[in-house]
Amino acid sequence: MQQKIAFVGVQWGDEGKGKVLHHAVSCLVGGLSLGSPDLQCRAGLVAVERHNGGCNAGHTLYHNGSRIVLHYIPSGILYPQMYNLCSAGMYLNPSKLMGEIQELQQQGIAITPENCGIAANAHITLQHHVDSDQAALQQERHTSTGNGIRQTAADKYARIGMRFIEFLNKEVMADCLKRMFPDGVPLQYEGYGQYAAKYEKERRFLAPFLVQDHQVRQFKGSRYWLLEGAQGVMLDIDAGNYPGTTSSQITQFPIRPDTVVGVAKLYCSSVGVGDRPFVSQLPADLEEKVRQEWGEFGSTTGKPRSLGWFDAVAARYAAEVADVDYLAGTCGDRLETLAKLDVKPEIVIAYEIDGKKYDTWDVLFHRRDVLHKARPITEKFEPWKSFTEPDQKTLTPAAQRYIDRIEHLVGKKFCMLGTGPQRDDVIVYENIFRREEEEHLRK
Ligand code: GDP
Repeated sequence: MQQKIAFVGVQWGDEGKGKVLHHAVSCLVGGLSLGSPDLQCRAGLVAVERHNGGCNAGHTLYHNGSRIVLHYIPSGILYPQMYNLCSAGMYLNPSKLMGEIQELQQQGIAITPENCGIAANAHITLQHHVDSDQAALQQERHTSTGNGIRQTAADKYARIGMRFIEFLNKEVMADCLKRMFPDGVPLQYEGYGQYAAKYEKERRFLAPFLVQDHQVRQFKGSRYWLLEGAQGVMLDIDAGNYPGTTSSQITQFPIRPDTVVGVAKLYCSSVGVGDRPFVSQLPADLEEKVRQEWGEFGSTTGKPRSLGWFDAVAARYAAEVADVDYLAGTCGDRLETLAKLDVKPEIVIAYEIDGKKYDTWDVLFHRRDVLHKARPITEKFEPWKSFTEPDQKTLTPAAQRYIDRIEHLVGKKFCMLGTGPQRDDVIVYENIFRREEEEHLRK
C-alpha cells in the first residue's frame, strides 16, 4: 500500500517545508536501503510532487555542504532514487524553469525525464505576465513577488491561459495568444507567431519532461508519494488573509493524503506583508535586531521578512483548515538570540478587537478590515540560552515548556522539531513512516 503524505505550511510560507521534507526523504532513503534491498534495483519507490505556486516560492536546502534554493523542482531531486513531479496546479515560467534545471545540472544534480516530469496541464507564465506584474509592483503596495503569478492565475481562471502542452507546440501557442490578446499582441512582443517563436530554446529543452500527472502517479513512487506544498495556509486564496494572499489553493491536494504534516516556524515570518494583516508582528527595534541574525530575507525576492511571535490563533486555524495530523516545528534554535537580548519569547494566545477577546478564528476574520484592528494578547516564556541539551536530542526545560504550550494551544503534537538549518538538525518524536515501513518489513 502506498502512503501519501502532504507537507503543508501552516503560517505565511517560508516555514522550512523544504528542510522538513528533505529530512523526511533522507530517512526514507536511509530506512529503505537498510530494510529494502530492492531500492538499489528499483528507482521510483518514493516520489515528491510539487502541486501549487510558481517561482514566487522557494525552498532553501543544504545538501552535501552546498546551499541549494529550489523554486520549481521538488526536493526529491537531491536523491537519484526519487521521482519528482511538477503537477497541474503549478504556474511555470519556461525560461526560469529551464534556468533552474540547468543550474542544478551544473551543480552535479541529475535531472532527466527519468526522475522529473512536468504536467501537461500546468499553466504557463509568459514574459508579458512578468512585465505587467513588475509594472504593478512599482505602483501599488501589494504582496506580489513580481513574477507574474497573479497574471497567470487570472488568465487561467478567465480561461484564456496556456497549458504546458500547448506551449510546447509553436502553432498552438500562437493560437492561445490570439485568445489572450484578441486585438493583437502588444508591440514589444511583436506578433503572435514571433512571440511564440521566442521560446524555441525553452520549448526544445523542456519538451522531454512532459507527462500526464495522473498517469505518473500510477507508476512512479510506488511506496511513498510525498506532496510538497509551497507557501502556507495563511496565503491560501480561499482560507488566507484575502486579498493579501497568493493565487493558489494551498490546501487543495491533488490526491487524498493519508497523513498531513503542518510545518510551522516557532515564531512567525511573512514576506511582503503589504495589505495583509500580521497581528503578531514584533516591535520594530526587536524585529530589526533579530532579522539580520536569523537571515530573514525572502529566498525569492530578497525582501526583508516581517517577523512576529508564534501566533497560536492563526496556527490552530491553519492546522484545522489543512486537516493536519502532526506539526513539524522549525527554527526554535534561532530563538536563543532572545536570551542574549534579555527578551522573553511570547506566544499570541488571543486577539483583542474593539475591546473583545477572540481566542479562536472568528468568522469576522474573513473580512479584510477586521484583523487590521487586532491587538495581540500574548503569554511570556522564560528564554532559553540553548534550545537543546548537549545531546542535541532533548529540549532544555524552558524550550520544552514553550513547545508544550504550542501543542496545547494548536491542539496537535509535533512529529519533529528542527534544531538548525542542516538536513539532520532535527529531533524526531514520531516516525510518520513507521506503520508502512513495518508493514513492508513483515512481508
Ligand atoms: P520553505 O519555503 O518553507 O521551505 O522555507 P524557506 O526555505 O523559504 O525558509 C526557511 C529557512 O529556515 C531556510 O533558510 C532554512 O534553511 C531555515 N531552516 C529550516 N529549518 C530550520 C531550523 O530548524 N533551524 C534553523 N536555524 N533554520 C532552519
